[in-house]
Amino acid sequence: MKLALDDGELALREEARAFLAANVPDPAQIPHDFDAKVEFLRAWQARLHGAGLVGLSWPEAYGGRGASLTEQIVVNAEMARAGAPIVIGNVGLDVVGPSLVEQGTDAQKARFLDRILSGADIWCQGFSEVGAGSDLAALRTKARITDDGGFVIDGHKIWTSYAQHAQWCAVLARTDANAPAHRGISYILVDMSSAGIEIRPLVQVTGDAEFSEVYFDAVEVPAENLLGELNGGWAIAMHTLSHERGWYGVGRQAVLRVLLDGMVEEARALRRGGRPALEDEDVRATLARAHIGLEVLKHQGLRSVGQMIADGHPGLESSVDKVVLGRVEQEMAAAGLDALGAHAALGAGAPAGVDPEAWQHVYLYARAGSVYGGSAQIQKNIIAERILGLPRGAR
Ligand SMILES: Cc1cc2nc3c(=O)[nH]c(=O)nc-3n(C[C@H](O)[C@H](O)[C@H](O)COP(=O)(O)OP(=O)(O)OC[C@H]3O[C@@H](n4cnc5c(N)ncnc54)[C@H](O)[C@@H]3O)c2cc1C
Repeated sequence: MKLALDDGELALREEARAFLAANVPDPAQIPHDFDAKVEFLRAWQARLHGAGLVGLSWPEAYGGRGASLTEQIVVNAEMARAGAPIVIGNVGLDVVGPSLVEQGTDAQKARFLDRILSGADIWCQGFSEVGAGSDLAALRTKARITDDGGFVIDGHKIWTSYAQHAQWCAVLARTDANAPAHRGISYILVDMSSAGIEIRPLVQVTGDAEFSEVYFDAVEVPAENLLGELNGGWAIAMHTLSHERGWYGVGRQAVLRVLLDGMVEEARALRRGGRPALEDEDVRATLARAHIGLEVLKHQGLRSVGQMIADGHPGLESSVDKVVLGRVEQEMAAAGLDALGAHAALGAGAPAGVDPEAWQHVYLYARAGSVYGGSAQIQKNIIAERILGLPRGAR
């Protein structure tokens, strides 16, 4: 990927900076309660959409700006730098949306895409099941086909992020029980207000209930909600997952960079052995390692994005990004707690401007970095077999 921005990219960066400088909410305004926070973030996404700063790389016909991926990344980096809240509709925008753009009928695109951009509809991804996470093709949720071509879904999904806040879910369900595992799966768009859906939020180690179990009991879905071909869902699911990982590493490193820069400032205020923690050799070494890790993540991510721009779609490199991301995020979060010293556990009594609770949250959330979007071990298998061409390991 090129390192210097062209005039159009610089102009867009200025536009984003100006909007963000005037509009980024004070972090104190963001509610702590997760449900209230989601509503706050939906309103924030609507404002960003009003300013034309959501889904920039989506085609203009579907409410985007037809911008390049580089421009999208530039804007995302500005958002991170400005301390902007996250875009809550990211499953719709970055995960399911690209598959809708590629595979959706005109009616589906007209119905769903603009509402994804504005945050009017939050989407969730109903892929994983108990016993069908890494081995996704083992999924057992069934969709019986009705006489009018519609579906009746029975099954159980788990780890479904934002399910309790979502209007729509992209569900993978088995529509042909006799076909081999990867065939006979369909990709069905399910209205989360349908009768027969039960959502049971799961509380993560962070204390947030970001994901849920979702039970489907004879949930009726009309034929028009099938995405792509009947029994052709596996290929679309792989497309969705490749976008989930696609340029996530680059976006995430921009967020982590802001956190680490904040930690360096906090280390000036913290005391260690009677002097600022930033002067302590161990703290300096830990923060330096975190800095190096983030630089590696950034450059690896940019390399993958460069390849993605050249190929026109995400490639296997995103598996490398995902492994690096999981490791770097966890190391950086640990570095943050190290620098806090006793405040990491005690919280109270930290100097002004130092927020141990925020770092505890960063540390705990980082555990998920090597699991979501495909675990680190699975990515290593992909790297070994499909990038390096090593023989398949024993399964
Ligand atoms: C924060 C978070 C959000 C998520 N959001 C969603 C969501 O919105 N929608 C959704 O569908 N899913 C979601 N997931 C689920 C995620 O995709 C799965 O957790 C992940 O794919 C791993 O599956 P699993 O949890 O079933 O673990 P398992 O597949 O049971 O794996 C358990 C362990 O065994 C290892 N393992 C398994 N198979 C192999 C193998 N062949 N070789 C080597 N090691 C192996 C794994 O790496 C892992 O360490 C989310 C997960 C997290 C943590």
